[in-house]
Amino acid sequence: MKRKQFIGILGNTSLVLLAGKLPALGQGKPKKTAQEFVFVEAEQFANHGGWELDQQSMEQMGSPYLLAHGLGIPVQDATTEIQFPKAGSYRVWVRTKDWVAPWNAPGAPGKFQLLLNGKAIPEVFGTKSATWHWHDGGIVNVGKSATLALHDLTGFEGRCEAILFCKDTNFKPTNDIAALTQFRRRLLGLPQKPENGGKFDLIVTGGGLAGTCAAISAARNGIKVALVQDRPVLGGNGSSEVRVWPEGHTNKSLFPHIGDIVNEILPPITKRSGEVLNGVAATYYDDARKAKVVQSEPNITLLLNHRVVEVETEASEIKSLIIQSTLTSRQLRLHGKLFADCTGDATVGFKAGADYEYKVENLMGSSNLFNVLDTTNKEEVLACECKDKSALALKCEVGDYEQPFPRCPWALDLSDKPFPGRKGVKTFGKEDLSSFANMWYWESGFNKDQVNEVELIRDHNFRAMYGAWDVLKNIDNMYPKHRLGWSAFIAGKRESRRLMGDVVLEAEDFKKQRKFEDTAFPCSWHVDLHTPKKEYQNGFEGNEFISDYTRGAEYQYGEVYWAPYRTLYSRNIKNLFMAGRCISVSKTGLGPVRVMRTCGMMGEIVGKAAAVCIKKSTSPRGVYTDYLGELHSLMQKPGSEKSE
Ligand SMILES: Cc1cc2nc3c(=O)[nH]c(=O)nc-3n(C[C@H](O)[C@H](O)[C@H](O)COP(=O)(O)OP(=O)(O)OC[C@H]3O[C@@H](n4cnc5c(N)ncnc54)[C@H](O)[C@@H]3O)c2cc1C
Repeated sequence: MKRKQFIGILGNTSLVLLAGKLPALGQGKPKKTAQEFVFVEAEQFANHGGWELDQQSMEQMGSPYLLAHGLGIPVQDATTEIQFPKAGSYRVWVRTKDWVAPWNAPGAPGKFQLLLNGKAIPEVFGTKSATWHWHDGGIVNVGKSATLALHDLTGFEGRCEAILFCKDTNFKPTNDIAALTQFRRRLLGLPQKPENGGKFDLIVTGGGLAGTCAAISAARNGIKVALVQDRPVLGGNGSSEVRVWPEGHTNKSLFPHIGDIVNEILPPITKRSGEVLNGVAATYYDDARKAKVVQSEPNITLLLNHRVVEVETEASEIKSLIIQSTLTSRQLRLHGKLFADCTGDATVGFKAGADYEYKVENLMGSSNLFNVLDTTNKEEVLACECKDKSALALKCEVGDYEQPFPRCPWALDLSDKPFPGRKGVKTFGKEDLSSFANMWYWESGFNKDQVNEVELIRDHNFRAMYGAWDVLKNIDNMYPKHRLGWSAFIAGKRESRRLMGDVVLEAEDFKKQRKFEDTAFPCSWHVDLHTPKKEYQNGFEGNEFISDYTRGAEYQYGEVYWAPYRTLYSRNIKNLFMAGRCISVSKTGLGPVRVMRTCGMMGEIVGKAAAVCIKKSTSPRGVYTDYLGELHSLMQKPGSEKSE
């Protein structure tokens, strides 16, 4: 049998490939017939238009995808050019889903079309099945090249993962994720083995506050670092993509320089008492500032838009990570001496076999913060969101005119339910628009798997937001000149796996101010744990969407509490550090440590400890047993100080 041949056309970043003889990957028995395909990854479209690249669920559904996140306004087309091996007829398949079908909700809001040379093919996509699948688009006739566009019809979260043209019109592509991955990689002509991505002293995975600070701190202490982040920006929940305002006190007296790097990378904004800085304009989170600091460190190799997909271990040590580009699917192998898991979900540790705790019940949920704009207010509309998104900006001009919003029969039906922002419903003392938008308590997934069901949880948050706005606008007839301005499509997570270290810190330790000799980072947030809020549970048991938080004397501790270094490395994977919300704490111990300035300071310590490991040829545990003095003296130095 002749080997398969690939033709790669890379001119416009879209990859279009022709396979010669491939085993058929349709349903039923593989057969060795000649197949010709053009496989187009949505994320490789030359121009994403107003569609967002979503990588959050790639392990579960097999790939990043494009999302028409328009808050009810159709987003601009994503476009690309493709070449066909020969002119003629092809069957076209589009990988997509009806995102509200998991709840049997009517209406298929995520509808979109495929335009071929500017003309829509008759089939409308996003209308079938609760799971990702290949939707048959029928047979099309093409010349040797064509333009392709994803044309959103609704602005309500339509999604497309890939498009496949098949010369054999009887061919059915597989929906099995593992088989599809193989099929995809072969058609894209991607190498079987990852390419060499280099050797590093420390590889940090996750560019939230914790990971970014870990990388900067390690680099300034003279070691060679790779920072792998699966989004185009740094900051995690504190980025303009999620918009959570960082809390926690830095630069406390025992080690007054711990917190220097946190403050260097965060915008110099002082939050006034009672001010809400969650979900406000993108500029508040200043992604560029974080990127600039990292990019000016010669010891850091920054790998944005790359996700860790595999971890290679030997004798309880991590040897290397396989990372995959979320834009091109290219894989790299990174070799490291030390690793820091700052993913929040403990992905690196989990894949390496590190001890961890995680039970899918009574969890703190995930949120997709959102805001609302008053279109009559020039400051509000023109000053912030117009610059964010060209597609949304089209309908976001300042003006004293009505802002209609469509009915959303597929969203949560809140027509006869209380929810924050509804007249007569008080939430934490407020009952106006300020209790509706920008609020942390629109939260869900309390009994869902925050790692493996993230798409479902995020989508439930969308259904809550759209359902509530529909009621306010169309039933209660309030806020006629307001519009949804922005909402996160990346789920802001609070709780998932926690890796176990030599000390597992509990809430009691904070309350009793239990002292440890390996003082490392100051904690100043109360024992903040979330549960579904009872007032809003009725009718939504198991699918709650508003949370409550623990408060009162029982959840306070007197002074700043210095947590121990032993929470920052794995007890069974010898060269693994962790920083951020996946450190070694119990379920209740997570409450006080999870705020972002505190997470950032953990990163600062991990960076310094990693430098001690390299200089003294020891392990993270060895720093505690043999070089604690060394670590503590580094901790007294300014965060800006550099050593060779
Ligand atoms: C709505 C909401 C409100 C909150 N309120 C506050 C608040 O007011 N103040 C506060 O300080 N904290 C608040 N928190 C908590 C805080 O945001 C988190 O605990 C904190 O962000 C954890 O920091 P982190 O660096 O560990 O993780 P993250 O901020 O989640 O960063 C982890 C990063 O790693 C990346 N990543 C994950 N997996 C991979 C992978 N496999 N490969 C590469 N990259 C990967 C992610 O994309 C992400 O960017 C809130 C959280 C939420 C959701």
